[in-house]
Amino acid sequence: MTIEKIFEEKRPVLSFEIFPPKRAEALKSIDETLEILSSLHPDYISVTFGAGGSSVNNKTVELAKKIKNEYNIEPLVHLTCLHYTKDEIRRILDELAESGINNVLALRGDINPDFENKEDFKYASDLTAFVKGCGSFGVAGACYPETHIEAKDSVTDIKNLKKKVDAGAGHLISQLFFDNDVFYSFVEKLRIAGIDVPVSAGIMPVINKAQIERMVSLCGATLPEKFRRITHKYEDNKEALFDAGMVYAINQVVELLANDVEGIHLYTMNNPHVAKKLCDGIRNLL
Ligand code: FAD
Repeated sequence: MTIEKIFEEKRPVLSFEIFPPKRAEALKSIDETLEILSSLHPDYISVTFGAGGSSVNNKTVELAKKIKNEYNIEPLVHLTCLHYTKDEIRRILDELAESGINNVLALRGDINPDFENKEDFKYASDLTAFVKGCGSFGVAGACYPETHIEAKDSVTDIKNLKKKVDAGAGHLISQLFFDNDVFYSFVEKLRIAGIDVPVSAGIMPVINKAQIERMVSLCGATLPEKFRRITHKYEDNKEALFDAGMVYAINQVVELLANDVEGIHLYTMNNPHVAKKLCDGIRNLL
């Protein structure tokens, strides 16, 4: 089933994001993660994709097959395009189709000097159009409530997002954010711009100090004052920061659900206990 169809049937849609373990032997330990994640009954699980290199991305496909065949959950396969040719992407799509996997998150990917830019695709909208032309895939796109870091301004970024939706993206998943008001105002701007597809809110519970620093430098998410105060107070106390980060994320999700958010996409960081704690906190709200 395409995820677009799931959105037609039920809202809010709950999804988890995981990444393929780097070491081959760790693919075994992912079973424990998937065991717990599947017991939380997500509507789908998305699997990230590396910037380049077939060995890394074989693991994405392998993990997606495991999610589909062993856990009977719909996988959403992330695909980046900047460092791939059309033939390489087509081969991956063929393998997905043969495995009965028909949901793809079409991404440009970050510019990475370690990998050659293959020139076949420039933007995620190019990949979206290509995937739509390759079979009956449902395609999702990424969006940025605080504007993509390379974009000139938010208006330009939303106009570019509209191109991606017009190319066939049937639902959107947002970059993580910590201030719900930023998300509400972003979705309002999308609707005014004529972008009507469902938008899932990307939530990442911050449970350790390294994450906080990475968050700001990599994705440019604004850290609201109340978030800063909490993380500053508990940053050197592992257990306390875990509790505080979880409560912050649960409060964010409760408020989003109360405001009829269309989907919650949880960046699990392969930590199923984070997902479990969050789901326990909202068990009766879904
Ligand atoms: P695009 O939609 O192509 O946008 C990139 C930039 O180009 C933006 O500034 C946009 O405004 C601009 N732009 C877009 N179209 C046009 C146009 N037609 N003309 C001019 N400018 C244009 N990265 C990974 O490597 N692997 C992953 O698995 C992965 N998963 C992700 C999942 C989510 C939910 C999110 C939010 C991000 C993920 N990323 C992942 C990161 C993503 O690859 C980067 O943020 C990347 O820099 C942009 O990708 P995009 O698909 O959003 O690009």
